[in-house]
This record gives sequence, structure tokens and C-alpha cells, in this order.
Amino acid sequence: MTNLKKLTFHFLVGSQDLYGADVLKSVDEHAREMAAYFNADARIPGTVVFVPVLRNSDGIARAIQAANTDASCAGVITWMHTFSPSKMWIRGLSTLQKPLLHLDTQYFRDIPWGTIDMDYMNLNQSAHGDREHGFILSRMRIPQKALAGYWKDETLLSRIGAWMRAAAGVAEGRKLRVLRISDNMREVAVTEGDKVEAHIKFGWSVDHYGVEDLIAEVEKTTEAEIDAQMAEYRERYALQTENVAAVRYQAREEAALKRFLEAGGFGAFHTNFQDLQQLKQLPGLAAQDLMRQGYGFAGEGDWKTAAMVRVVKAMGEGRTGGASFMEDYTYHLEPGNELVLGAHMLEICPSIAAEKPAVKVVPLGIGDRDPPARLTFRAATGPAVLVSLVDMGERFRLIVNDVECVAQPHDMPNLPVAAALWKPLPDFATSAEAWMYAGGAHHSVLSYAVTAEELRDWAEIVDVEFVHIGKGTRIEDLRRDLALNDALWKLR
Ligand code: MN
Repeated sequence: MTNLKKLTFHFLVGSQDLYGADVLKSVDEHAREMAAYFNADARIPGTVVFVPVLRNSDGIARAIQAANTDASCAGVITWMHTFSPSKMWIRGLSTLQKPLLHLDTQYFRDIPWGTIDMDYMNLNQSAHGDREHGFILSRMRIPQKALAGYWKDETLLSRIGAWMRAAAGVAEGRKLRVLRISDNMREVAVTEGDKVEAHIKFGWSVDHYGVEDLIAEVEKTTEAEIDAQMAEYRERYALQTENVAAVRYQAREEAALKRFLEAGGFGAFHTNFQDLQQLKQLPGLAAQDLMRQGYGFAGEGDWKTAAMVRVVKAMGEGRTGGASFMEDYTYHLEPGNELVLGAHMLEICPSIAAEKPAVKVVPLGIGDRDPPARLTFRAATGPAVLVSLVDMGERFRLIVNDVECVAQPHDMPNLPVAAALWKPLPDFATSAEAWMYAGGAHHSVLSYAVTAEELRDWAEIVDVEFVHIGKGTRIEDLRRDLALNDALWKLR
């Protein structure tokens, strides 16, 4: 069972007392059957919880309170099987604290042409019941994901699943603690941001610790812990170095970091290579192997990207294709075949590797420490997204670019780090120009397991601006949208 199955989504099905016991009994039976169907479908990552039919204001208010106080509840799915007058919903909806999916569907797929009568019409009124419900959600400005279609339709099931993944990212954020080891890299702008606003918007609790706190853990690490960590490295990775002592130092750092993360309940962390104090190596292999285990990470004090790596990993759980901290590093500007080489000083997550990663020990060209051990590998090919969260001053903006990761056309024998190579959509120039206009960072999350639509849903639930750069992007449209967004967000 993945962690996503532990998240519940309360299925709130509306009706009213007016219809009488027989109709309400049918609504209940249908809703129960549908919840079971959803839970048996592989496209639905969370657990749908059947709730007895909602018939009046008191029941609706109680059901929404129950969703609010259920710690496992990551969202509610509303559907009006019959008409369910929306004034009955106002009291409950005004207290709603969970993401909402409004599902407009109908229990019976086809109109029974030869037998349809008013009894059938009274029971199957989603076509107007859901319009009444849509009105009150819009009137109350409640953020909603609206999805319509037959409830067994595969596309609809996939879209419900996609929204659940966004809600899972939100739920992950509500409990996320981010460990800052030191501060931001000196002079760098984009890695800064408003941590209090992030706590309010996303639930991220972002706290700083001194490098000395980590060093104390490193010094406490025993030879037995290092041996155990080395055994794990040998099982997963190919050791291609004579300098085992350097690898053992990363094992020491990983054991120390893991203890620190677990003791504080942290789900993400960052380092800062300018502030290592008595640490002998920048955590490279250590940070990479911790990312593989699901921790969010970013370099240079970038707590926003570290947190987003964790959130995106949570959203993509159970799917093939990983997610990593990433940086646009170097361009290939061959006409018609422009590519971006993504990498970092060390810290790319092996969950995106296309081959067994190799452990190497190579000097860093920057900084003044011992050559750090790191994993090197080529990243997987295929469609992916680059995700960047930036602080625009009075608001956050999430920028997503669709990319196609491609195979390396040539070996790069002197490249001492893991790397990904991609063609950004819609084309290199439009993507890069759009990213610049939008203020996207040089740091990002690269994920093969989530989509732009899922990230848009996440942004809408947490109420931040969303900018998508993809197949249909045109610079003039994007610039107009950015200008309009700027004005609209200032009015809020
Ligand atoms: Mn960087």
C-alpha cells in the first residue's frame, strides 16, 4: 500500500428529504457502490470514503466538520445525485478546510429511452443538481476542481486520480518541516523568500539550524553505522573509486543527517556549500541517497525548492519515474536541436537515473573542501516537467515547463556529475524567454511522475499564481497573462 492510499477523500453526495425514503435509499446504495468502484480502480490513488446521503443543512454541516477533523482526510468529493438546494450547503461549506472536487456525473450512463418516466428523472437529476451546487461554490468563492463525465469513464477516473495527487501534495505540505542547515548562499536573490507566508500558504515550517548542530551528529556517528550505510551503497550503486575513505565520510554524513531529520520530523532539507565549517565534504552522495528515500533537498540554502522536491515526490508516489532537485546548467545551441543540460554540483536524485549510478570521488571546482563522493548517472528519457516556485514579493508564483528528456547523443567522460538532457517545450527560445519573463529560478524540480495539470490543481488549492509553459505557449500571450496576473493579484 502506498502512502497515498492512507489518505481519505470523503464522498459527499447531496439530495434532500423531499424525495422520500425510497429515493434516498437508492442514492445511498449508488454512492456506496461508486465509492467501492473508485477504490478498486488503479487510477484512483487515494481512498474514497462513503458518507451516508446528505439530506439537510445539519447533516451537511456535520459531514463537513467530520472531514475537517479527520486527520487522514485530504479532500472532499461532492456530487448531487438529485437536486440538493444549495442554501442547505452554505453553513457547512462556510467551514470547509479541505480541498474540494466537484464531480458532475450520473449513476446511470444512458437514458432508458423506452421506459423513462418522472420517477427516473427525479432520481437522476445530477444535470441540474450539480449546476445548483456549482453556483453556490462559485458564489462563495470556494476553490473547486470541477470534473464532468460518466463515473466509470477511464479518462474521468484518471482526472479524479490526478486531482487526488494534487491534494496529496497539499496534505504533505500541511505537515512538512524543512531543515535549513545554514542560510541562503550569499548574494543570491531567487533562493530567498517569505517563510512566514510559506507557512501560512503551504503549511511548511521552515527552521534554521547551525552547521555545528549537524557536525555534532557527524561526530557521534559510529563505525558500525558507517559500515551499514556503506553496505547499502554497495548494494545500490557501483563504487568506481579507490578512495573508499571519502565514500565512508559521505556515509557518516548521511547517517548523521538521517538521525537529524528523523529526530525533528523533517521531510526536506538544504545545505549551503559556502558554510560547511568543520565538515570535510559537502554532502553529495549523502544528499542524493536521502532524496532517493523521499526527502526533499536543494542546495545553496534554497528551502523553497527543497520543500517542492518533497511535495512533488509525494504527488508522484507509486508512479514510475522519479523527481529530483535540478538546475539548468549548460546549453547546446545547435540550430534546430537546442538542448539544455541539467545538473548540479553534486546533488541529483538517483530516482531519475536511467542506469545503475556510479559512486565517484572528484574534486569540486568550487569551495575549499576535500573532494566529495557523489553519484553519477544519465537521467531517464521521456516527458517530464520542470517546476519552480518563486517569491514575487506579495505573492508566490509556481512556474511549470513541459520538457522532453532525451538520450545523450555522445558520452561525456569528463563530466563528474549526474545529468539530464532535455528539449523544452514548445521550443528552446520560447521556453527560455517565457521562463525569464515569468521570473523562474535556475533551481527547479524535475519530475517524470507528475503533470502540469496536477501542479495547476495544487497551485489552485493553495491559492498561488500558476504559469504554464508548454506546447501551446506564445510569448505575447504569456506576457499579457503575466501583466494581467500582476494587476489581479494586487487587487486581492
Ligand atoms: Mn545551485
